[in-house]
Amino acid sequence: MTDTGTIQGLMMAEPLTITHLMRAAIKNHPQREIVTRTWDDRTERVTYAEFGRRVARLANGLRALGVKPGDRVASFGWNSLAHLELYYAVPCMGAILHTTNVRLFPEQVAYVFDHANDSVVIFDTDLVPAIARANATAPQQAARRTHIVIGNGPDALPGAIDFASVSANQPDTYDWPELDENAAAIVCYTSATTGNPKGVMFSHRSTRLHALFAGLPDSLGVHQYDTVMPVVPMFHVNAWGLPFIALQAGAKLVLPGRRLDAPSLVDLMASEGVTLSAGVPTIWIAVYEELRKREMTLPALRNLIIGGSAVPPALLDRFDAIGTTVSQAWGMTEMSPIGTVGYVKAELRDAPPERRREARLKQGVFHAGLEWKLLDDDGNEVPSDGIARGELYVRGPATARSYYNPDPGVNDAFVDGWFRTGDICTVDEYGYMAIVDRAKDLIKSGGEWISSVDVENELMGHPAILEACVVGVPHAKWIERPIACVVPRAGETIDETAIRTWLETRIAKWWIPDRIVTLEAIPRTGVGKFLKRELRAQFAQLLSAD
Ligand code: AMP
Repeated sequence: MTDTGTIQGLMMAEPLTITHLMRAAIKNHPQREIVTRTWDDRTERVTYAEFGRRVARLANGLRALGVKPGDRVASFGWNSLAHLELYYAVPCMGAILHTTNVRLFPEQVAYVFDHANDSVVIFDTDLVPAIARANATAPQQAARRTHIVIGNGPDALPGAIDFASVSANQPDTYDWPELDENAAAIVCYTSATTGNPKGVMFSHRSTRLHALFAGLPDSLGVHQYDTVMPVVPMFHVNAWGLPFIALQAGAKLVLPGRRLDAPSLVDLMASEGVTLSAGVPTIWIAVYEELRKREMTLPALRNLIIGGSAVPPALLDRFDAIGTTVSQAWGMTEMSPIGTVGYVKAELRDAPPERRREARLKQGVFHAGLEWKLLDDDGNEVPSDGIARGELYVRGPATARSYYNPDPGVNDAFVDGWFRTGDICTVDEYGYMAIVDRAKDLIKSGGEWISSVDVENELMGHPAILEACVVGVPHAKWIERPIACVVPRAGETIDETAIRTWLETRIAKWWIPDRIVTLEAIPRTGVGKFLKRELRAQFAQLLSAD
């Protein structure tokens, strides 16, 4: 008996590690396939058994290059077999994989490499120019890292080692260390409202538990008979856990490589018989158009998981009409990431189709690995009646408790053991969560974040602008796009073209607002903050014709 009177269970304290998941997958499903498109657009396939040998060879090769437990190894690439090998080899040797978002700006890439203290950077050959640009912003730090290139494209990075040579002539087995389940496995950065990206460090245990919860039948619901194709990038929160969930289930895994255009995706899905895929709405809008153009359907595709941004109702309807079920998913990097999935609950199975559709268009039902609460502005919990709105707080064993080496103030999102999501939600009497607003000042366009504050700051640096307020409004293709509301200085007029040119030299092109609207004043709250909700409502239709 312990001091508290509880009695210990008598079960093995086997650590929950990625190593154990990998071993089980290889042993239980040796003939299962992993299919990848390579950097030079070939299709390559290996069995789980061969994958295990490749992972061992890579781990041996990385060790020979000096990678030790605790070291950080950055990946910078697309969804490929090489990337999958890194997903397993690096954490299972006790090192930490830093999956770097290839869409960050060069300064941000250099920042995250430096912040994570990466000693090795492994990148796809077509991303050599992006690595070179990032390195040029901080050459001294870059010179300390080992660079490894996957593939042999036209651009070369002087001194980079060929990825294939790392594994060449290495043994097929590796003496995997017994790791502490709480050891860090993967680190992934997410956008802050303003300032530097924030690191979320997943442990072996959280990765395993997330795979179990998100793999449940009513969550992502992956089975051994599935052919799973994550379109969501492996640099976005572990491709929503699918590289682990698929191997946990013993499913066939298809990795599309660098080509994410709709024709390439449709070809691959059709030829490999993909049954389950996942990605942000923008991708699936384009895929649907491609299917329509070719007058074809994807009969094998039984479950299309769409998340990262709200699913447009028309998209759900269109896929429904061609026999593919869409499941909306909501999640966050800090939650590994899956939180809810919008399936039809048993209670609603016999409800009229309109009612079932309404339920599926909500963000979904929480899985068992999360506790949640909705709090109003005074910190009181609001009722689950589908009407009362509150900010969503979550906690669970696959939810972050801190950012990695956070900048001052950044950790304010962690409150009394809970994580504050910044999403304003309702939860109805059946347990469906719906996002009704966003407390955080960010805009999500095509699955990537835009900092409205950073765009506002640049606009307010323009000599003709007194005040600028940037909000996200609905857009058919990108789901959300920024628009700017500006107030001119006395005696000035706003020349939209000149302002665009001004922004072009200061922020990424895709961050530039789609419209610049001149206002006499920007509506404000009682404490003087911009009333963004009002502007979002006022201009909700502004881009409807785009
Ligand atoms: P990230 O950490 O980049 O994955 O972004 C997480 C945020 O994206 C959430 O807090 C939401 O604001 C937004 N988000 C994710 N999934 C959805 C969804 N299905 N519907 C609406 N917003 C979503």
